[in-house]
Amino acid sequence: MTRQSCAYERRPLNTSSLPWRRQPGQQILWIGCSDSGCNEPENLGASRDEVFEYRNLGNILVDDLSWNTTLRYAIASLKIRDIVICGHYGCEIVKSTPNTGLSGPWSSILDRLRSTYHSTLDGVSEKEQNRTLVELNVLEQKRAMSRVPEIAEAVEQSDLKIHSVVHDAAARSGYQLIEPDR
Ligand SMILES: [Zn+2]
Repeated sequence: MTRQSCAYERRPLNTSSLPWRRQPGQQILWIGCSDSGCNEPENLGASRDEVFEYRNLGNILVDDLSWNTTLRYAIASLKIRDIVICGHYGCEIVKSTPNTGLSGPWSSILDRLRSTYHSTLDGVSEKEQNRTLVELNVLEQKRAMSRVPEIAEAVEQSDLKIHSVVHDAAARSGYQLIEPDR
């Protein structure tokens, strides 16, 4: 079974420390979870007209027509320069106990995540497991996105940045997740 290091920093977000670029007319692509139950971009300081939003179950990037079309449109038409992948604590999709309502790539991606990080998750409370899984999933999705050729090329040319974020609805706050360079 694969073991993987999961060292990363949680950097508190506030309106004076937003990681994405803010320019008039420039939108960010916001990838959120369908069951978050709140407006994370607004809670974290993004105005409505700044955000082009895409949501699915667990903010998981599945190689399907919906996601591929969204990505192509965001880059080619909207000239997006920042992508935010935002998970949220209290998620019913991304959690330590498998959700039996999930199938296909969603369940296999989450099963793989639990398996990969089992040594990190073992021995802590269920609440802490769930919060950690939400964070690890965001980081995992960022890695997956970075492997998409058109995104990798844009990042390489400094035209595009991908940001890993978690939202805490109870605190109406969030964190940017920063990994050391690999
Ligand atoms: Zn969720």
